[in-house]
Amino acid sequence: MIYYKTSEEVLKIKNSADILGRAHGEVAKYVKEGVKTSLLDKIAEEFIRDHGAVPSFKGYNGFPSSLCISVNEVVVHGFPSDYELKDGDIISVDCGVFHQGFHSDSAYTYPVGEVSPSVLALLRTTRDSLYLGIDQAIFGNRIGDIGHAIQKFVEAKGYTVVRELVGHGLGKKLHEAPEVPNYGKKGSGPLLKQGMVIAIEPMINLGSRNIVQERDGWTIRTADRKPSAHFEHTIAIFEDRTEVLTTHKYIEEIVKF
Ligand code: MG
Ligand code: MG
Repeated sequence: MIYYKTSEEVLKIKNSADILGRAHGEVAKYVKEGVKTSLLDKIAEEFIRDHGAVPSFKGYNGFPSSLCISVNEVVVHGFPSDYELKDGDIISVDCGVFHQGFHSDSAYTYPVGEVSPSVLALLRTTRDSLYLGIDQAIFGNRIGDIGHAIQKFVEAKGYTVVRELVGHGLGKKLHEAPEVPNYGKKGSGPLLKQGMVIAIEPMINLGSRNIVQERDGWTIRTADRKPSAHFEHTIAIFEDRTEVLTTHKYIEEIVKF
């Protein structure tokens, strides 16, 4: 069942998303060569708790950390660890914040140091595809319009769309209906109505779209071990507009590519 939010509830999600955006900005300061990904997790968790909120992911179905850290061929759901970032890596930082009873969720993939042109192009295309998806996330359209726009754009450039993992509604729960695939047919799926809050999160691969899950029960990587990129925003649908509730602006003040 899709739970439609009131304007007051959307405002609460926006407040949660504001803390989230600034937590991402704190993490962005430390994404560089030689930094352990566990440090990023510590910085995010401290910032979120210092602002009276709770990291959504920590303890979610047993997930051990506040961030999902997914490096290179890891698509999503990687654990922060003792791994030290190195020149040429890409790293997806996915974070959720729970505040005033509501979750927000967003992700960003960073280049570390000098990344190969082909991988940088994957990052840019995935980021652009998120905004093309958001452009279709308007009142009266359908969920399939979002995925169709993303899929058409990235496949035209030779990339592939992960199918098994999708975006989602969110609110009082981190994951609610509807599912928001990053592929699909125009005009298909649930209608976008006033009060829908969804996370759109394209996961785009340089090689084949196939993925495997590691034995840890969480980490998802590409089957061919080629890199994968991931960007995410939480948005709200209103009759007269769509609002992007999360922000990457604090990241992009620091990291430019
Ligand atoms: Mg999400
Ligand atoms: Mg996320």
